[in-house]
Amino acid sequence: METKSMWEATANLSKCRQRLKEHEECDVVIVGGGFTGLSAAYHLQQKKCKTIVLEKNYIGSGASGRNGGQILTGFVDSMSSLAKKKGLKTAQQMLQMSLDSIDLIEKIITENDISCSFKRTGHLYAAYKPAHLDWIKEEQEVLRRDFKYHVHVVEKEELKNELKTDFYHGGCIDENSASYHPFNYVLGLADAVEKLGGTIYENSEAIRIVKTPKKKVVIETQEGKVTANHLVIVTNAYSGDLHKTISRSVVPVESIMIATERLPEELVSSFIPKERAVFDTKHMLYYFRRTPDNRIAFGGSGRSISKDTTPLYQKLQQGMNSVFSELENYKVEYQWSGKVGFTRDMHPYIGQLEDGTHFAFGYAGHGAAMSTLMGKLLSVNILSENKGENPFEKNDLRPIPFYSQHGKVVGLMKYYFKVKDAIS
Ligand SMILES: Cc1cc2nc3c(=O)[nH]c(=O)nc-3n(C[C@H](O)[C@H](O)[C@H](O)COP(=O)(O)OP(=O)(O)OC[C@H]3O[C@@H](n4cnc5c(N)ncnc54)[C@H](O)[C@@H]3O)c2cc1C
Repeated sequence: METKSMWEATANLSKCRQRLKEHEECDVVIVGGGFTGLSAAYHLQQKKCKTIVLEKNYIGSGASGRNGGQILTGFVDSMSSLAKKKGLKTAQQMLQMSLDSIDLIEKIITENDISCSFKRTGHLYAAYKPAHLDWIKEEQEVLRRDFKYHVHVVEKEELKNELKTDFYHGGCIDENSASYHPFNYVLGLADAVEKLGGTIYENSEAIRIVKTPKKKVVIETQEGKVTANHLVIVTNAYSGDLHKTISRSVVPVESIMIATERLPEELVSSFIPKERAVFDTKHMLYYFRRTPDNRIAFGGSGRSISKDTTPLYQKLQQGMNSVFSELENYKVEYQWSGKVGFTRDMHPYIGQLEDGTHFAFGYAGHGAAMSTLMGKLLSVNILSENKGENPFEKNDLRPIPFYSQHGKVVGLMKYYFKVKDAIS
């Protein structure tokens, strides 16, 4: 079984970038070579601001190269819930930003001719229980009435036009969502940064932050260092000890994925005829889609207490087969995992700490869309073009209580959600 992500295994040719070995200087040093960091570098370079990106492993080795490639509107919290918590005006602004994030990705892909199979496929939010369709309908009404935003409810009887399964009880279509090959997008974004004059170092873990009296910051790696005017840390769910305030404000939750062997065209297009990005209402959700090379990529929640992860992947495969029973006759060729970053508010944070560090993280499974926009907003903040004017701005990060116990807490939450899926 191949454990490299299917996206990495099927990606366009990529170059190996050098390790930082010298003392470099730039305007902005960015720690983390995922969508957020590369988008920040891209937008800064467009404004002739000299950037250096430091990536601990290689481009796309974090969540950006291992996700489901579903570029979704909205957030993990429903818009009606966000309206209650934040007020309608702010929630409206949030929804608009999620739509803008998809437009921005499309624009970058077009302008830089990035070959990553971007397609406005729309998404299908599938109801796991009949009662879930009722609250999908209520949400549709809130979206129409309060947000002037239109999604389309699909009743159980019509669902066969969208999905070849009896597993779900209807759902809801949002035509604005999209999908892409995430590894190819992150590679294309890295190339675009370099074309604009930015520098990317791989295998260059930032291990220490040193402040200088001249209001500059020095980031040290094992073999080199960078002196810059501004520091951006966008390590998200892969944050280590570099900056404790940031790493203790993001909860990494593992998600696992499998991908089948290539399937006959007729079969794969019968499963999801309109190529929707699909996710469901289960608390322990499933998310899945057709890939550009005719596989089904299927994801779910998957932290294991034991070191043997085989049962987790087997369980996910059983889940996939219970959605599409014909897949029992086909092999799973890839399995992989990655970390998704959550905040205590379950929506992204972006901001600048008192020590001057800029950050953005915590997209909670909606980062394929939001991260590119957050990277752009980081550039806007650094260039002081629009500071503090978006609803995700947060300058007082407070560490999550019992942070060191988060693994156990996440495990317990998952057990609770499994029980909830069974009974509600
Ligand atoms: C299995 C899985 C499925 C997902 N599916 C979806 C989906 O379908 N749709 C969706 O919207 N979102 C999805 N997500 C979430 C999405 O992938 C992320 O929100 C997004 O990629 C985050 O991008 P990022 O740039 O902030 O972080 P990352 O891509 O994780 O980048 C952070 C980078 O920082 C580097 N780093 C860490 N420490 C250091 C250091 N000290 N020095 C230098 N570099 C460092 C890491 O190596 C990493 O490359 C999924 C995530 C996973 C794991």
